Parts: sequence; structure tokens; C-alpha cells
Amino acid sequence: MDQPLAPPDLAQVVSCVSGYDPNALPVGRVQEVIRRFVQPVRVAERVDLRAALGRVLAEDVIVPQDVPGHDNSGMDGYALRGADLAADGSAVLRTVGTGLAGHGFEGDVPAGCCLRIMTGAAMPASCDTVVPQEFCRVEGDRVRIPAGVLRQGDNCRPRGEDLLAGEAALQAGKLLRPADIGLAASLGAAEVMVWRKLRVAFLSSGDELRSIGQTLDEGCVYDSNRYTLWAMLQRLGCEVLDLGVVRDDPAALETALRQACENADAVITSGGVSVSEADHLRRVMATLGDVVFWRIAMRPGRPMAFGRIESGAHSAMLFGLPGNPVAVMVTFYHFVREALLHMMGAPMQPLPLLPVVAQTALRKRPGRTEYQRAVLERRPDGRLGARTTGDQGSGILRSMSRADGFIVLHHEQDSVQAGDLVDFLPFEGLV
Ligand code: AMP
Ligand code: MG
Repeated sequence: MDQPLAPPDLAQVVSCVSGYDPNALPVGRVQEVIRRFVQPVRVAERVDLRAALGRVLAEDVIVPQDVPGHDNSGMDGYALRGADLAADGSAVLRTVGTGLAGHGFEGDVPAGCCLRIMTGAAMPASCDTVVPQEFCRVEGDRVRIPAGVLRQGDNCRPRGEDLLAGEAALQAGKLLRPADIGLAASLGAAEVMVWRKLRVAFLSSGDELRSIGQTLDEGCVYDSNRYTLWAMLQRLGCEVLDLGVVRDDPAALETALRQACENADAVITSGGVSVSEADHLRRVMATLGDVVFWRIAMRPGRPMAFGRIESGAHSAMLFGLPGNPVAVMVTFYHFVREALLHMMGAPMQPLPLLPVVAQTALRKRPGRTEYQRAVLERRPDGRLGARTTGDQGSGILRSMSRADGFIVLHHEQDSVQAGDLVDFLPFEGLV
């Protein structure tokens, strides 16, 4: 896709990042290069509010009028003038009518009187306090309020307590979640301006790969990476273009990469980027653009290609991920996800790492980052513990499927003893 801004030069970005060693690049350095290199695709569109879930706001949503638009009751009870309460809070007041939510009381509430009122009903202008009904004794048209249950101003929700007219209820760059959709609705916003969906093309490379529906010949495996990639991209709210399995053949690879580049903002491949690969993918990538090949100091993960490729008048970001199914997910979550979010117009934020207790000892040597798949469990001492899902081989997708998240063992970190605190990255958030 065409980019409105001139992209930076990758070699320049890479050389700006200190400690650059293409043979064992720390995870943090890779993230730094990617952060500096990717740019948002700034094309906005106005969409129906419900279609905006998971999209990124392109402009602030301004509050047109105070929310709520009137002082209102926070309880079912009686609205009164705080000045009518005795010093100890007690009073006997006469009821002059009823105020319901959506049906305000039109009349006046004079001194010494009160109004039967329901939650959300507009407060009469002269009242500033609501006594909950469970505190009152009703005697005919009189309401007796005992001492000590109430202070002036209690249970009255002021106009504008949620949002004030003129302020930004939601700011540009916000990835819209359910509460944001509700908040925009509370302003009466039928539509909002969001950045257009990111288009991401992906393909798998490797002669041993078979697609679902094909017979599994001797020595072959089903292509699972296209399915995990599809699923992770769906969760991110991208528009996806599945280019299938591409044979390890230069002409086929070039055709597929050009097609991807001409129809997407970003291209993701899996397999065929390790140095020992006999295949042609690396060479074809290099001829199509500005691409670096990394060996990253991480496990799983390690080989990855990154850059920008061009075809015709189009260019697209390129992420060449490793082939091993777990490595695909780890590199997607730690490098690609953030880059795509930034391209979508969202701010780049570090992933939330939670301190949890390691339930077992974990062997680790400094000099690389490790992502161990783990389940969470509640310990007898009440704290959260994390236990690995067993075999941590990078081809063992079961280790991801069974896990609640990653135990992240950082670059400089050494082995961990049972009972030590470790960082945990959960797979799921609440929304
Ligand atoms: P590669 O990076 O191409 O050397 O692949 C590393 C390992 O991942 C090999 O065992 C491949 O068979 C496997 N692999 C590569 N691509 C896929 C895929 N799309 N689905 C499942 N496994 C794959
Ligand atoms: Mg391969």
C-alpha cells in the first residue's frame, strides 16, 4: 500500500541502535529498531459506532453536553433540602409528589417538604440531598428521617459528574474497547472517525507443508502457522489476506511477495528465514526491498527478517518469521503485534508484565530472553504462582494451547529458584 510519509532508511535506523550485533541481537534492540522504523497508515474513515469496536480513534470525541445533563438521584428515596436537616441530621418532612427517571417532578419542593424520588430522576432545583428509603419511616404523607443517617449533599449525582461539555471523552489514538463504545453512546455519537483497518497478507513457505484437505505425504506436516497467524491478526482487528502455502521456488515466492506487497500494508511470512535454510525466500526478500536478517538472542524465536519491500508503486512492511509454530507466536507477540498496532495508529505501549512466583526452578543462562509457556495457579499462601506446561520445544504448539501466558526470563537474567518472583505475560486481558 502507498504510504503518505517517506519511510526512514532501515540501514540508518539499524545503525542508530547501539549494541547492534546481527548475530545475537537482544530482544530489546529488535523492538527499538522496529519502533523507530514503522509508521502509522494515516487514512481515516467515519464508521458506525458499533463497527468502531477494536478500531483506533483518528480524532478526539468531544463532549457536546454535560453527562449526565442534570443533577439526579443516586438512590430510591426522598429528595430534600439539606438545610431542613437538624444539626444531628434528623427531620420530619412532608411529601409533595414523586419524581421518576425520565419523568421529572414539575412542581416546587418548598422548605420543610420532600419529594419521593427514584434513582436517575432529575433533582428538583431546590433540593440537594437524597435520603435512601430504607432509612426512613413513612407516616401518611410525612417522612421521618432518624439522626445520623444523612449529611447535606448525600446521594445526589451532580450534572456533568461523568463528562463535562467541551472536554475530550476519548482521545485520538485510543484503541476502542467496550467501555469506550458505551461512553461514546452516552454522548449520542452515532459515528466516530477511526483509522482504516490495516491490511495484512501472510503466507507459509516450505516444501514439507500441506494445507488442510490435502493428503499428508511421507515427511510432511500440516501448515498450522497460517491458522495461528490468521487468528492473531483477527484478534488485532486486521483485514487479512491469506496467500496460502508457497513452494520453495524463486519465481513462486517472488510472485506471492509482490502480490502481498501490492495488496497489503504489511506482509508476514513464516519459515525459510534461518541461515541454514537451503531455500530461496531470503534471497527473494532481499531483492524486493530493504530487508535485514536477524539472529535474535531469544528462545524460542531466533531467525527473523524485517524491513520494507516494494512492488510497482506499492510498498509494505515485511516480517519474515521463523517456521517453528511456537516461535511464530512468540515473535508475533513480541515484535509484530506492537508494529501493527503502531501502523494502526495506536500508541506503542510495553506489554503488561505481572510479578508471579515461580513454582519450580527454571534453568536459564544470561545473554538471551526466554519465553516459557506456563499456567497460573493459586498458592496456599494466596499468591499467584506460574508453572511451565512441560516440554518447551519450539515445535510443540500444545505448550501454547495449554498455557495461560509466558514466563518471561529477561536477557540478563540467570536461573530461577522455586519461590523466586518472575515476570508473567498473560495471553488474555479482560476485554
Ligand atoms: P524453517 O524455519 O523453515 O526451517 O522451519 C522450522 C520448522 O518449522 C520445520 O520443522 C518446519 O517444518 C516447521 N514449519 C515451518 N513452517 C510451518 C508451518 N507453516 N506450519 C507448521 N510447521 C511449520
Ligand atoms: Mg523451511
